[in-house]
Amino acid sequence: MLIENIGQMAMYEQTAEECCELAQALLKMSRLMRNENPPFKYPMDIVDNLYEETADVLICLDELQLLENDVVNNWIQVKRECMGERLKKLAKMKAQESEEAESKEQSEGIRRIK
Ligand SMILES: [Mg+2]
Repeated sequence: MLIENIGQMAMYEQTAEECCELAQALLKMSRLMRNENPPFKYPMDIVDNLYEETADVLICLDELQLLENDVVNNWIQVKRECMGERLKKLAKMKAQESEEAESKEQSEGIRRIK
């Protein structure tokens, strides 16, 4: 175990560093996919880097015993439920906006005919 060799504080630092590298890999992937300002790298290298940095973060979280952790799993469940509720509200708002736009179009169409 890496944490036994470097200590808990260094493990937190290493994890933060790897999270930053994963964030950069995610941003590069997003730039590649959006293709508005693609990175000057081969697409396969960008994809490989994303996998590598994901592995680094997972290793660090595992070292800190944050994977398969009951408290973390409980948070995951709570967060997913909140996310589900937010998505339902968002879908409801979009449906309402769409209905309002359709209704407005219809009333404007009637006015144009008159
Ligand atoms: Mg890394």
